[in-house]
Amino acid sequence: MPGTSRMPISLRESFNNVRKRSRVRAANPLEMLSLDLIRNIVFFLFLLRWSRRALWKLKGRGLLGTLAEAYAEVRRVLYGWFLRMPGVRTQVRKQVDEALAKMQSKIVPANATRYLTLPKEGWTEEAVRKELDALANMDHTRWEDGYVSGAVYHGEDDLLRLQTEAYGKFTVANPIHPDVFPGVRKMEAEVVAMVLSLFNAPPDAAGVSTSGGTESILMACLSARQKAYVERGVTEPEMILPETAHTAFRKAAEYFKIKIHLVACPAPSYQVDLRRVARLINSNTILLVGSAPNFPHGIIDDISGLSKLALKKRLPLHVDCCLGSFLVPFLEKAGFETVPFDFRLPGVTSISCDTHKYGFAPKGNSTVLYRTQALRAYQYFVDPSWSGGVYASPGIAGSRPGALIAACWTSLVSVGEAGYLAACAQIVGTTKKLLHRLATSPSLSAELEVLGNPLVSVLAFRARSLNVYDIADGMSARGWHLNALQNPPAIHVAMTMPLVKVWERLAADLEAVVEQEREKERVRMVDGKKSAARAGAGADAAGDTAALYGVAGSLPNKSVVVDLAKGFLDLLYKA
Ligand SMILES: *Cc1c(COP(=O)(O)O)cnc(C)c1O
Repeated sequence: MPGTSRMPISLRESFNNVRKRSRVRAANPLEMLSLDLIRNIVFFLFLLRWSRRALWKLKGRGLLGTLAEAYAEVRRVLYGWFLRMPGVRTQVRKQVDEALAKMQSKIVPANATRYLTLPKEGWTEEAVRKELDALANMDHTRWEDGYVSGAVYHGEDDLLRLQTEAYGKFTVANPIHPDVFPGVRKMEAEVVAMVLSLFNAPPDAAGVSTSGGTESILMACLSARQKAYVERGVTEPEMILPETAHTAFRKAAEYFKIKIHLVACPAPSYQVDLRRVARLINSNTILLVGSAPNFPHGIIDDISGLSKLALKKRLPLHVDCCLGSFLVPFLEKAGFETVPFDFRLPGVTSISCDTHKYGFAPKGNSTVLYRTQALRAYQYFVDPSWSGGVYASPGIAGSRPGALIAACWTSLVSVGEAGYLAACAQIVGTTKKLLHRLATSPSLSAELEVLGNPLVSVLAFRARSLNVYDIADGMSARGWHLNALQNPPAIHVAMTMPLVKVWERLAADLEAVVEQEREKERVRMVDGKKSAARAGAGADAAGDTAALYGVAGSLPNKSVVVDLAKGFLDLLYKA
């Protein structure tokens, strides 16, 4: 009890009396007063906190937006209850299980020999090689012939051979031991330096290499969160994302407990709506985000506008250039239309760039760049007191594959500036050709609408009257692996070196599929079955994409989709 000695005698006596009477709890008036005061303060803080939140919400979303969000939330909860009702739950479970069984029959071969325990004796080299060959040649979508959107960005034999050689030289290397593997340390530092220079980084800039775009984004979010905590005491961090920003940001939010605000990217530009971003900023905001370009539509957000906003509000701005990687920095030199996107914009504080996409390095390579070394240090992990010794690592991983760093460095120095420039000319040039075909081919231009003005290698389109997922399924039937998108329903194509060679076949197949779907639609109309055809669960001809997104798009609560997706992940580990 501080200050007891300075109490008036009478008070002190009564205090002592009370204390004598009740050993458990002193009830002197002063203490009651302070308890009351504390209660009031707590209540006041509570009120302040919630009224501040309510105000932020109203400012950020407007009255209508707030009501719309509340309505969607109520629907989600009610529908969630509905799905858990006894009869409904068993029905849903049954349908999910059926869908998963169908999926299993497609991705897990039923009649292959399965190896579920270690072989008693190790196999001979010969036997291992034979099995590896069989595994590499399992029936698959032909990326080698360019039938896949994205996924394999280069895949030419010469580069593959050199990468494999580099890998072989450093198979045992681990950059966690720089004294044991000094060459790997040097290569890693040089990879980061080369990428920094590509993005016009200022002298104090710094970066790290990571295992992929997702880790790069996780680290940028972590750094921004730590910075806000240390420098501004932010304990309830929030970040503002374009709806089209890669879902790795949502993963970061889930892992690192950051609240997210999604901002619409409306037609016709499909760029993030800057006015809405500005309205959502409050004292808990730790990071603004823009994509250059985004994954779904291949659109570059207005990074200049975001940069101005970030400077004005003194907030970090991350530019996700994972996909743009080594294409966007070469647009200008290759003579294509471009926009500012890198450290030359003063508000840009961090950039993620995937060396394993258009940097053509093998998978497991990416970089995250920061305007200052101080920003980079916010992602470091250091434990000075572990019984295993003083421990420090730059990112999520502890041990890391030095071989991958060697293969990445090899890709960068062997392709070189001229090689990347030529690749940019080919890949972006071919994307422009495909765009032109979409705009001028009579069957395509009437039915398909390209979203926004894609400047790089990804273009997305929606269908005007057909179900675009039927088109995706039609393309799958012809061996193509394109990407289905949602909100709005659309498909995207990510141009790659293998696809450059066969883009005309892609366009021709697309024309054929659109014609074929139109013909089906005409027959349906004539038969008068149009509404019946899709309404029933038995949607007669619906392919996989149409079935999945037909269901997913119409549900107020996506827990069924979540169950399906988790079941799919389980299948990946079904031996
Ligand atoms: C691919 C991609 C990422 C994430 O990269 P991973 O390497 O798959 O983790 C992030 N952002 C964009 C725009 C991407 O296209």
